[in-house]
Amino acid sequence: MKRILVTGGAGFIGSHLCGRLLKEGNEVLCLDNFFTGSKRNIAHLISNPNFELVRHDITKEYFAEVDEIYNLACPASPPHYQYNAIKTIKTSVLGMINTLGLAKRCKAKILQASTSEVYGDPKIHPQTENYWGNVNPIGIRSCYDEGKRCAETLMMDYHRQNNVNTRIVRIFNTYGPNMALNDGRVVSNFIIQALKGEDITIYGDGSQTRSFCYVDDLVDGMIKTMASDYTNPINLGNPSERSILEFAKLIIELTNSKSKIVYKPLPSDDPIQRKPDITLAKEILGWEPKVDIIEGLNKTIQYFKELV
Ligand code: NAD
Ligand code: UDP
Repeated sequence: MKRILVTGGAGFIGSHLCGRLLKEGNEVLCLDNFFTGSKRNIAHLISNPNFELVRHDITKEYFAEVDEIYNLACPASPPHYQYNAIKTIKTSVLGMINTLGLAKRCKAKILQASTSEVYGDPKIHPQTENYWGNVNPIGIRSCYDEGKRCAETLMMDYHRQNNVNTRIVRIFNTYGPNMALNDGRVVSNFIIQALKGEDITIYGDGSQTRSFCYVDDLVDGMIKTMASDYTNPINLGNPSERSILEFAKLIIELTNSKSKIVYKPLPSDDPIQRKPDITLAKEILGWEPKVDIIEGLNKTIQYFKELV
């Protein structure tokens, strides 16, 4: 039985990861400061004797004995990471240093939840891992983008200099149950607006694209990455790309909603297009997403119906 630390374990992705790791017979230590995560996401795991919950902030040192670490602690939605930009960058940088220090002392394997945001507003399409990105270092998204880039640098330096056993996954837009009601990202916003019959708010003209991956597929890719011996970054995401306008129409159709589409200003530095090249994940991990967007969205809509 492995003892596995999941930082940010009460968040959207973290809660699914904790559940899956427990199912596979591991002991799971879920650490969270509950900034964007919630106890509701992990309430069904509390009675499991192999599950332990710790309220802690990774910007402060943490001591435990573990075999593996998944570092997910960091707000992921733009309104949440911009709410306290300095705290966000501290979480990515100080939090990464603390978590790497823990991995080094325990000789634990560590996986960092990085992001497609390291590619910024990409000039290469679809994005491959060897693309260095087009990131504004001083904009409103920089606390997140540059924080995550620095975290990748720290992972590689601890690997080269201190022999820490590291893994990096660059996660592209992921959706599913356990997203917070006030999350503010496009999937949750559109579904909630559609269910309530409110206007669907498209930022910009809706021609910007994203590629959405269902959370079960992502978690599968993360676990496969941890089990591999590949230390350079790997893209994890679903390459099926669509415009935000197409996505809004799809949500209206699936929810049978009478909501109207309205247009709001596009936030600055909002990437124009985003689609992962997952050739590497296919080759190294034998991984590719399996869940169709309609099936994934129907499960997500069902989850939000129960909450709204
Ligand atoms: P989330 O906001 O639901 O989860 C993040 C969790 O981290 C929350 O439970 C939050 O309370 C916790 N947290 C934040 N700061 C912390 C701190 N200082 N100390 C301890 N805990 C802290 O977001 P998510 O979508 O589940 O994302 C999880 C990870 O995956 C993040 O690191 C995010 O950057 C990365 N990621 C997510 C996506 C996506 O589409 N969901 C895409 C790319 C990368
Ligand atoms: N978006 C939108 N309406 C919303 C929320 C987001 O049109 O209510 C757009 C946003 O401007 C971006 C895309 O949807 O172009 C994805 O946004 P999200 O915040 O989900 O994630 P991002 O990929 O930008 O980090």
